[in-house]
Amino acid sequence: VFILAIESSCDDTAAAVLQNDKVLSNVVANQLIHTQYGGVVPELASRAHQQNIVPVVAAALKNANIKKQQLSAIAFTQGPGLMGSLLVGSSFAKSLALALGIPLIAVNHMQAHVLAHFITEDGYEKPTFPFLALTISGGHTQIIKVTDFFDMTVIGETTDDAVGEAFDKSAKILGLPYPGGPLIDKYAQLGNPKAFTFTKPKVPGLNFSFSGLKTAILYFIQKKKLENPAFVDENLNDICASIQYTIIEILMDKLKLAVKETGITQIAIGGGVSANSGIRNTLKTAENRYGWKTFIPKFEYTTDNAAMIGIVGYQKFLTRTFETSAVVSRARIQL
Ligand code: ATP
Ligand code: FE
Repeated sequence: VFILAIESSCDDTAAAVLQNDKVLSNVVANQLIHTQYGGVVPELASRAHQQNIVPVVAAALKNANIKKQQLSAIAFTQGPGLMGSLLVGSSFAKSLALALGIPLIAVNHMQAHVLAHFITEDGYEKPTFPFLALTISGGHTQIIKVTDFFDMTVIGETTDDAVGEAFDKSAKILGLPYPGGPLIDKYAQLGNPKAFTFTKPKVPGLNFSFSGLKTAILYFIQKKKLENPAFVDENLNDICASIQYTIIEILMDKLKLAVKETGITQIAIGGGVSANSGIRNTLKTAENRYGWKTFIPKFEYTTDNAAMIGIVGYQKFLTRTFETSAVVSRARIQL
C-alpha cells in the first residue's frame, strides 16, 4: 500500500509517501515569513501553502521514487488548525484523489501526533495498548489515555496556554524571535536550571495552566531590567534553563499523577515540544527512577509533518475508512 499524505494545518506545508507503515519520503516547507510578525499570520499562511503545495508534493513523490499512478490512497489533515490553511491541503487532496480515482482519507492532526509512534523506524520501539500519550505542541497540551488506534480519551489538558505557547511567549519576553521554543532549548543547555525559581501553577487534577507562568516571567524580567538593563543578555542561559526546568516540572508532576490514577506506565510523547532536549532527557531518566517505559518519536515526526498523517492514513486504509469529496475541514475537532 502506498499512501500520499498531506499536512497543512498551520504554517508548515508537508507531504510524505508511506509504503504500509514505513516512511519513503517526508518533506516539509517551513514558512519563514511569520518570523517578522512574531507569530503565524493566518492569511499569509494559506497563501504560502498555495505556493508550496505543488512543489512539496512533487518532491515527496520524487524522493520516494513513486509515480502518482502507483498511489493507493491520499490522506490529508481535516483539522484542527487554521481554516484557510486546512482548505489548501484538503482541496488539493480531494482533486488529486478524484483525478487518480483512488480513496480519500481524512486525518485528525492530534490523533496523528499520538499515532506517529506507530511508524516503523529502525531503533524505535512502538508502544502497546493501553498507553498514556503526552501531546505537547504549539496549540495543545493533553494527557491522553490511548486504548486503541482510534479509541483515545483526553484525561487532562490545558485550561489556557499550550506548552509551546509558554515557550514561545517566554522567548518573546526575552526578545528572542518566533518560534522561540527551540532557542530556549538551545540556551537552556548552557545554563543552570536552578538559577531562578518561578512558582508552579496550582491546578487541580490532571489539567494544566501556563498563562500564570508567562506573567510571572514577564514581571520577573521587568523588575530585573530596572535594576540592570543588561540582565537578560548577561543571564540568558540561566534564565532559559530555569524557565525550561519549571515547564518540565509542571509536565512531570501531572504525568506522575496520571500514572498513579490510571496504573499505566507506558508514556509516549508527541507534538512539537517533544523535540525539547530537556523533556527528552527527563523522560529517559524517569524510566529508571519510576519504572516507566517511555517512547520518544524520531525528531522529524515530532513537529508538524506529513509522515504522521500518513501512518493514520494507513491505519484507516486497512479498515477502509474513506471519505467522499463532500468531507469538510474543521478548525476545531475533538480526538
Ligand atoms: P498543534 O499541533 O497543537 O496544532 P502546532 O502544529 O503549531 O500546534 P507543533 O508544530 O506540533 O505545533 O509544535 C510547534 C511548537 O513546538 C512551537 O511552539 C515551538 O516553539 C515548539 N518547539 C519546537 N521545538 C522545541 C524545542 N526544542 N523546545 C521547546 N519547544 C519547541
Ligand atoms: Fe501539530
